[in-house]
Amino acid sequence: MDATADPMIRLTGVGKTYPDGTMAVQGLDLDVARGSLVCLVGPSGCGKSTTLKMINRLIEPTAGTILLDGRDVLAQDPVALRRGIGYVIQQVGLFPHQTVAVNVGTVLTLQGAPRATVRSRSLEMLELVGLDPEVYADRYPHQLSGGQQQRVGVARALAADPPVLLMDEPFGAVDPVVRARLQDEFRRLQRTLRKTVVLVTHDIDEAVRMGDRVAVFAAGGRLAQEGTPAELLARPVDEFVADFVGSTRGLRRLAVTRIDPAYLEPLDGVTTGDLGGVVDADATLEEALAALLREDRQVVAVRRGGQFLGVLTPNGVHRALRASLADPSLSDR
Ligand code: ADP
Repeated sequence: MDATADPMIRLTGVGKTYPDGTMAVQGLDLDVARGSLVCLVGPSGCGKSTTLKMINRLIEPTAGTILLDGRDVLAQDPVALRRGIGYVIQQVGLFPHQTVAVNVGTVLTLQGAPRATVRSRSLEMLELVGLDPEVYADRYPHQLSGGQQQRVGVARALAADPPVLLMDEPFGAVDPVVRARLQDEFRRLQRTLRKTVVLVTHDIDEAVRMGDRVAVFAAGGRLAQEGTPAELLARPVDEFVADFVGSTRGLRRLAVTRIDPAYLEPLDGVTTGDLGGVVDADATLEEALAALLREDRQVVAVRRGGQFLGVLTPNGVHRALRASLADPSLSDR
């Protein structure tokens, strides 16, 4: 079976009307392929968190069905269900009076794993998220920076090796520089571990940077568009999505903006399997985006003559467009 026929998560006609009558989510159809990272993005109050919490049954849907690995979540014991689903939230929710290692091992301890196993697994997880266990394992959460606490939250969610991770604004509380680093690191980690991830964010830059696919939500909990980052940038289905991805004017700019080497990334960090077509450094962003779409890949290589300059990702295209829009010396066309 291919990924489309057998998604890890499938929402069909899902709706949530709260008891006060608020229709938080309506008629939502969404598939999340195994091992992929899907971002739910949209303005505040459009039903993203509600959708996420329906997957692990923190909130019960009032319509539709949610299948996890082919099984209806409502037919499963919520505690057993959540064992297979890591959950990372913005406020992290670490226990303040327990050490970092104990916090990371929480789920394993609850599952009755022996202490020594919990300890060694916790240290392994800290290493994985870039925190030196020798330094951090026996510290307390308040002794860590916001970014470090967020890493501990990710380590904790991964400790029991769940196939699925749900993340609600996981990098929202950290400053922009740390956030960008955490985003890139988590993306690399996810590519290695092949977890299925659903990530909620209000930040379109984060969604484009992180998602294999992006689901844009609109007011009233409706799905406005779902697709790869390149598809959303190149072909927004309506004005709302176009405005949200910032491409209404940007789209016209695409055709006249040349690739700026400043937005290229080095090849390392990108797996060669992701490498798609090649464009010349003199190409426009539109041509680069077209190559991304044509190959259905995350990156396109850029070269000048015989020389390889770097790769352009949808995120790079997006940032280049934003910069072009912000540049007052370029008049609108
Ligand atoms: P988002 O995550 O996109 O910001 P939410 O899923 O948190 O949106 O909320 C969607 C809508 O549901 C909002 O209008 C919000 O005010 C409303 N809502 C959320 N939780 C509740 C609740 N417990 N009772 C009533 N309305 C709620």
